[in-house]
Amino acid sequence: MDATSQQEKSDSGRKQLILNVPRRTLVVLCGPAGSGKTTFAKALINEYATEGLRETTNISSDFCRGLICDDENNQQVSAEAFILFYDIIGKRMQQGVFTIADSTALQVRTRSELLDIAHLHQYNTCILVFNTSVQSCIQRDAERTRSVGEQVVRYHSDLLLQALLAVPQEGWNQFYLVDEEMQGAVLRFM
Ligand code: ATP
Ligand code: MG
Repeated sequence: MDATSQQEKSDSGRKQLILNVPRRTLVVLCGPAGSGKTTFAKALINEYATEGLRETTNISSDFCRGLICDDENNQQVSAEAFILFYDIIGKRMQQGVFTIADSTALQVRTRSELLDIAHLHQYNTCILVFNTSVQSCIQRDAERTRSVGEQVVRYHSDLLLQALLAVPQEGWNQFYLVDEEMQGAVLRFM
């Protein structure tokens, strides 16, 4: 499956992604550190509060790390944090609520676990791959407070290339590429 090319220019001339999704959708964000995943999720949540989106709509693996050890960057607790991450996402699906999974999702096993949980709960699966250049990721990462460093970003960017090849074959119901010029999304519940 090729990436669905759905975008439009808003009144302000901004290029925006159009997301037409059922409520029972898991939106999986996938991309390197610094590619803009959390920023995108927060903007969507701010814009669609009237549609019921809340801060808690976005489940982040970093936040799960923080819940366990008070340090969102502590990679030593990653395994436990991901158990929590999948568990919360599954529990939200039991409630039938719209959910965003905010992790890099650059590893096949992360994407496969998220697909499995979604299938178990008959959820629509929508993956947004953040195709942000390595240069932009490095620059954005360097400028933010919580920086992971150039080496990690370069490693993630290599994984992104693999993900771009693999994702279309993984069986996602919807697959979108988010490029650097895109500013936010138009969300429509079907
Ligand atoms: P991580 O995987 O490490 O959590 P991330 O993909 O969630 O990274 P963000 O934290 O959303 O990345 O963004 C990294 C930095 O880039 C932030 O400082 C943010 O303000 C900036 N940024 C995000 N999106 C854009 C954009 N479209 N244009 C310019 N800067 C951006
Ligand atoms: Mg983030």
